[in-house]
Amino acid sequence: MSQSTLLNNSSVTSPSSIAFDRDEFNRSVMNTYGRFPLAITKGEGCRLWDTEGKEYLDFVAGIATCTLGHGHPALVKTVSEQIKKLHHVSNLYYIPEQGQLAQWLVEHSCADKVFFCNSGAEANEAAIKLVRKYAHTVLDFLEQPVILTAKSSFHGRTLATITATGQPKYQKHFEPLVDGFAYVPYNDITAIENAIADIDEGNRRVAAIMIEPLQGEGGVRPGELEYFLRLRKICDENNILLVFDEVQVGVGRTGKLWGYENLGVEPDIFTSAKGLAGGIPIGAMLCKDFCAVFEPGNHASTFGGNPFVCASALTVLQTIETEGLLQNVQARGEQLRVKLRALANQYPHIFTEVRGWGLINGIEISADVELTSIDIIKAVMEEGLLLAPAGTKVLRFVPPLIVSEAEVDRATQILEKVMETLS
Ligand SMILES: *Cc1c(COP(=O)(O)O)cnc(C)c1O
Repeated sequence: MSQSTLLNNSSVTSPSSIAFDRDEFNRSVMNTYGRFPLAITKGEGCRLWDTEGKEYLDFVAGIATCTLGHGHPALVKTVSEQIKKLHHVSNLYYIPEQGQLAQWLVEHSCADKVFFCNSGAEANEAAIKLVRKYAHTVLDFLEQPVILTAKSSFHGRTLATITATGQPKYQKHFEPLVDGFAYVPYNDITAIENAIADIDEGNRRVAAIMIEPLQGEGGVRPGELEYFLRLRKICDENNILLVFDEVQVGVGRTGKLWGYENLGVEPDIFTSAKGLAGGIPIGAMLCKDFCAVFEPGNHASTFGGNPFVCASALTVLQTIETEGLLQNVQARGEQLRVKLRALANQYPHIFTEVRGWGLINGIEISADVELTSIDIIKAVMEEGLLLAPAGTKVLRFVPPLIVSEAEVDRATQILEKVMETLS
């Protein structure tokens, strides 16, 4: 693509079309995604434009990632200034921006220490390694630490994190998986108690429970308060580390800064990634002092915590505060759920349930109808609304946290219109 084509398209209000050839794309890009037939080249706020200049309302936000939407002035300012000043030097040296970000995170969470990496899967890998080192060094009688995870969970795509992910479809053909994981149904405390008892033999013992406060990919399933309170107690009584995967629900997505705040419990370790730097790649593993057992040489990341991404994340977090985005998330989330429940009541044979916290919401499609989440997503896309699936039967709504009242109304109007046709 020539420079001039790019420049021609730089006006948000009247984007001209860019030459784009899907077949050419598919010839050289690895075939790992079932992509929608759409190429997006421009964004502003909660709006996106494709190569044809068609406008979309973005309720995907780069999969719960673009916290401040697209082209937010504060983020634009920070990344522009930071790329000129310094973007990467490695962790051979002290990085002041990394220190500032870690300090912000520690002051605004239950954690005492932060490790930075570049994605959710990496943050979970770091948590898994930390659990194992803790088990081997602090609980040193524990030679075979087991990490319990939940069925229908999602923890990432590396070998250890697909093993942690309690969904066989992500593991198929990638065996042998990593040792030391076992699975329990979500929100089922008896299953946890049984698993802990079953696994306790010889040197094999449960060292940690790794779980999402709300299951995102697994169908937007909120954790139950009573379950998580019991989970915390069981962990305390049995010297088990409680690890929360906050990759999708952290950073204000639920209307609280961290997902665990909805459940009245604190984890010992938690991970963050998606929304943390507003769409710039970052991951973080945070923990309390008592389990911060990593020492120099134990774990590392070349890119992790570089000045560019840390300055970006700090801006995202400060903007959440200065723009009162948590209140917006709570109000817009409530507005959205009211509308979705009304729609579910209107089509009781199609929609079975509306679930979610803040601005991570799902509506479940009945198993008794053939309609899938992808069918509806394709139909609303035609009408200018972008939604993501959470499995084949759940529509997921994860707009930027800056979404307005009018935009939530618009999104639900489009869905209502589409359902009139589809039903
Ligand atoms: C997206 C996600 C991950 C994986 O994050 P990547 O950045 O894609 O590696 C892990 N856990 C949860 C809960 C997620 O939603």
